[in-house]
Amino acid sequence: MAGTRKPVVEVRRSQRRRRTVSAYRDGERVVVLIPDQFSRAEESEWVDRMLARLAAREGRLARSDAELLARANRLIDLYLPGYATKAVPASVRWVTNQNGRWGSCTPADRSIRISHRVQEMPEWVIDYVLLHELAHLIVPSHNARFWALVARYPKAERARGYLEGVAAASSCAPLPT
Ligand SMILES: [Zn+2]
Repeated sequence: MAGTRKPVVEVRRSQRRRRTVSAYRDGERVVVLIPDQFSRAEESEWVDRMLARLAAREGRLARSDAELLARANRLIDLYLPGYATKAVPASVRWVTNQNGRWGSCTPADRSIRISHRVQEMPEWVIDYVLLHELAHLIVPSHNARFWALVARYPKAERARGYLEGVAAASSCAPLPT
């Protein structure tokens, strides 16, 4: 995004708004919608607040999802080169609703979700979790063919051990899918 440069802000006052404030990006501009009865002081306070909120949201989500996709492409190049069309996901995202799973994938729409809990883990473990889900785009079930694909990743065994250790430490989280 624009880094530390302050974006152009357009404030729109609405008589229908009572107290809700919202903001969205429109190209280079940020549009902030505020209630008409806000004072100038309230306006500037809310503009600052909404800009900070927007920046936090974009920095946290957009950057790391893009990074995750770049990581997926690198892993496919390295370990699944023969499957470039099959293994490339349509979307890959960090999510907070994995219910104890490290990652999941939906072969039908080729989407992959990785738990935010994996974000804090070492790079080589993140790579394993992601490669595991990429391999599911090729082979949906945990059969011998699937594990043979996963085993192309040199640290697969070690990463599974790491994840089992974390799962054991956090009481009864299920094993990675
Ligand atoms: Zn699995």
